[in-house]
Amino acid sequence: MIEKRQFYIDGQWVDPAVANDFDVTDPSTEEVAAVISLGGQADTDAAVAAARRAFASWSVVPKQEKLVLLRKLLDIYKSRSDEMAKAISIEMGAPVKLSRTAQVGAGIWHLEGFIKAFEKFEFERDFTGTEKTLLEPIGVTALITPWNWPMNQIVLKAIPAMATGCTMVLKPSEIAPLSGLLFAEFVDQAGFPKGVFNLVNGDGAGVGSQLSSHPDVDMVSFTGSTRAGIAISKAAADTLKRVSLELGGKGANILFADADEEAMRYSAFRCFRNTGQSCNAPTRLLVEKSVYDRTVEVVASYAKETKVGPASEDGDHIGPVVSELQYNKIQDLIQKGIDEGARLVAGGTGRPDGLNRGYFVRPTVFADVNNQMTIAREEIFGPVLTVIPFETEAEAIEIANDTPYGLTNYIQTPDDEKRRRVARQLRSGMVETNARGFAQGSPFGGYKQSGNGREGGAFGLEEFLEVKAVSGWAAE
Ligand code: NAD
Repeated sequence: MIEKRQFYIDGQWVDPAVANDFDVTDPSTEEVAAVISLGGQADTDAAVAAARRAFASWSVVPKQEKLVLLRKLLDIYKSRSDEMAKAISIEMGAPVKLSRTAQVGAGIWHLEGFIKAFEKFEFERDFTGTEKTLLEPIGVTALITPWNWPMNQIVLKAIPAMATGCTMVLKPSEIAPLSGLLFAEFVDQAGFPKGVFNLVNGDGAGVGSQLSSHPDVDMVSFTGSTRAGIAISKAAADTLKRVSLELGGKGANILFADADEEAMRYSAFRCFRNTGQSCNAPTRLLVEKSVYDRTVEVVASYAKETKVGPASEDGDHIGPVVSELQYNKIQDLIQKGIDEGARLVAGGTGRPDGLNRGYFVRPTVFADVNNQMTIAREEIFGPVLTVIPFETEAEAIEIANDTPYGLTNYIQTPDDEKRRRVARQLRSGMVETNARGFAQGSPFGGYKQSGNGREGGAFGLEEFLEVKAVSGWAAE
């Protein structure tokens, strides 16, 4: 049993002000794998005060000194990546291979991307010819992160905060806190000055809302559910904090008749990846009528071939979903799909054959879905694909945009003109086409109820900056 009851505050590992144990469950076994503490107001206050004290000196540390620390952190992260992969597998169920590659790799990818962007970033600009525009760190930041891509999210927030000269209090997801605790060890080992980075574990109602309403926090950067994003925005409103939000999604994936079978298989793969627990997953597959039946066949057989198993096993299978709560929510939504008349062509309710313990979900495909059904509107956050037919390009765009979300949409077609034309009309922060991954430093974020922030690279740095115009900068 892993015991990690302490918080990282002001450069020290400290006990919580009041003991409050919380069990971390391994979703592959349903057994308690670790115990942490949930913090309270006194812990939150101590961490915010440490961050406030550190801000004056950290905010003026020269770029080159910060770069030395960030590069050191990257080296430590790489050298301890096996520990990180193991922590993520235990806390949220990512199979070891996925954990080592995509989960841990996302942290390395973004850390490197930020270092490159930071090296080139101009903090003093001259837009007018007569004055100076100074980009300055916003101050003390609260970073609240989810469990689905835990290191991806922490790196996307902590690194730009550090680079820009902000100080921070991180509250990782209480469901998956082990990777965040390990990250705090890396920061400590890298030698960042005390108080720059602090970590307090806790839940949303406790430390999460204490940070969101704290008078001495200048900004909240949040990733997670739209529900929590709204709660945080309201809590932050009284002190008019900047709130940067990265929320849910219900991505459409428009597959045109000229796409090949590989694109069909990719569509299923991309939805089921990380057991469907990605805000940018393409969960609504929109298929042009003439290839509709064939596509349904291909994605259904892909789902049937997709192996499901524990995180500890090596291989390309998908793991469990994160918790009993999520398992039950997904089961209810699958049942709702059946009740509302969608055609179940793979999977369904219950666990996959041979798995009696662990939060394992059957890879599921619904065909003949219409966009008003619950399964086409709500974020399911499990391996559930909905397939919707369309006749014309205009209809596909209309269905794709008919959602409260706007994070990532997808297009599959070799036709360059059509791909660009459609991409321009999709109301989302990102459009992934023909399985081409995004470049390092590309801005990640959403339109509409998917949030308002952008993470990664130069855009990610800008989130943490204030803009100051100074007139009369030139010598008199
Ligand atoms: P959540 O939004 O409740 O939790 C994410 C983080 O926010 C955690 O650290 C949590 O402690 C904190 N939090 C929760 N309520 C808060 C509040 N009122 N104030 C401050 N902090 C708060 O997500 P969840 O309950 O773990 O998952 C529920 C659903 O959210 C999922 O089914 C999925 O649809 C969605 N989700 C989306 C993402 C994403 O990347 N967009 C990530 C995780 C979950």
